[in-house]
Amino acid sequence: MPDIQDSLDRIAADMAGRMDRGEVAHYIPELARVDPARFGIAVALPDDRVLSAGDSTLPFSIQSISKVFTLSIALGRLGDQLWSRVGREPSGQAFNSILQLEHEKGRPRNPFINAGAIAVTDAILAGHQPKELLGEILRFVRAAAGDDDIHINHAVARSETATGHRNLALASFMKSYGNLINPPELTLGAYFHQCAIEMSCQQLARAGLYLTSAAGTPRMLGPDRVRRINAIMMTCGHYDASGDFAFRVGLPGKSGVGGGILCIVPGKASVAVWSPGLNKQGNSQLGTEAIERLASDMGWSVFGASHTANPD
Ligand code: GLU
Repeated sequence: MPDIQDSLDRIAADMAGRMDRGEVAHYIPELARVDPARFGIAVALPDDRVLSAGDSTLPFSIQSISKVFTLSIALGRLGDQLWSRVGREPSGQAFNSILQLEHEKGRPRNPFINAGAIAVTDAILAGHQPKELLGEILRFVRAAAGDDDIHINHAVARSETATGHRNLALASFMKSYGNLINPPELTLGAYFHQCAIEMSCQQLARAGLYLTSAAGTPRMLGPDRVRRINAIMMTCGHYDASGDFAFRVGLPGKSGVGGGILCIVPGKASVAVWSPGLNKQGNSQLGTEAIERLASDMGWSVFGASHTANPD
């Protein structure tokens, strides 16, 4: 088994030479400006070490990875009551699909598709101003990462507010079924800003440590809830490519359209990767490949260790 740093260095060197890097997200104009040649990767370990390669200190838009943190806050605050608002089944649909929502009468399939994440944000916004909630989300993420230098990129939030018609449709649709407490615009204001949080791979990897449940990592919520969040990451974290990610990587992960992926190796490590180009399901193309390589090199999988280079 190679050591982690060797594996990261080889992966970053290989990714630097790739021509086919996927497409950056164009539907949020600010994200369309990000350089597709960027690539960063970091592994945070419970003993406080962070190993990394490439552009691992550059902040990027975490987008849907923020849904892991808001789900954590919601479960901590509301407990199992949350499940009356949102399910926990894989959707098999695109991240912003509206189709299923009508069939299922405004109750989204899971907290990681857009509709589900909007319902979660709405649930924790109730009784608060968006500013207060965003302050709480930032405090949570900064405490998890042990780093106060984590901020919201307001230009990205404005850009998504100006173009997020589909998310407004999803929120309005849920409102019509009585599954949204606040006015759609208010909930979406909070949702777009949580998505616009920026973190580097090193910060994000650290922030994921609480999800490893390893001794010595921050305890942000109880172990049962952590296990369940990992289960949802495994089954729903990559939209309609969640099954493929589980098949290829075998670890719980959550992607974002900024090109980041947070991946948890329970008991061992938290991994963050960033490559802005996306595949057609909206997940980082090279990021997915990089995590697959790292997991294979290190024999990391929740389904048992394997050291086969090409498991197919
Ligand atoms: N803010 C993005 C949206 O709602 C998040 C999607 C993602 O990262 O997958 O469209």
